[in-house]
Amino acid sequence: MNLKALYNISYGVYIITSKVNERLNGQIANTVFQVTSEPPIIAVSINKQNLTYEFIEKSGVFGVLILSKEAPLKLIGHFGFQSGREIDKFEDISYIIGKTGVPLLKNYTVASLEAKVINTVNAVTHTIFIGKLVNAEIIDNKEPMTYAYYHEIKGGRSPKAAPTYIEENETKKKKSNGGKYKCKICGYVYDPEKGDPDSNIAPPTPFKELPDDWVCPVCGAGKEEFEKL
Ligand code: FE
Repeated sequence: MNLKALYNISYGVYIITSKVNERLNGQIANTVFQVTSEPPIIAVSINKQNLTYEFIEKSGVFGVLILSKEAPLKLIGHFGFQSGREIDKFEDISYIIGKTGVPLLKNYTVASLEAKVINTVNAVTHTIFIGKLVNAEIIDNKEPMTYAYYHEIKGGRSPKAAPTYIEENETKKKKSNGGKYKCKICGYVYDPEKGDPDSNIAPPTPFKELPDDWVCPVCGAGKEEFEKL
């Protein structure tokens, strides 16, 4: 069985939000899809260990923010590689509260959806929440980010809790520019040939020449958390 065959399924990059009373949370997901058009029903797959899972389970509502290609790795890392059990992810984020009470981001968002859970499917590590759409808005007429774009162009990675996570083979070719370095916290790979556009690091910049205060664009870890591939 070649699990890389699964890489050929297309996905987007989304922030899924929910709330319990006044507490808000959100996480990154790539498995969101429309199930029916009449009535409009959507579904999302969420890891049972995530706080967002608990929030959707309790409140019965969830929001989906469809991110644009311009969304910085930092935003995706903020929602994707940190837990709402440790930080308030919405503290420094600009958002509005939607009809269902869930937070909806305004920046880097192409469209927002809100749904009320009508059914759940147990999928071992994950639960698929099936929800009837209660609101949908187009926020910005930009191109949505696909998972392939996040992976190939932006250099983003999947956390282990993602439904599409596949362990990667770490054997990479060595290059004269010092080679690639991997963040031990989130798995982001710094590629000297790509630089780090979010921090205005133009390619080619070897890892060793990055400024001392440079941090992982995905999870914010310092240079010392990186290991050579
Ligand atoms: Fe990182």
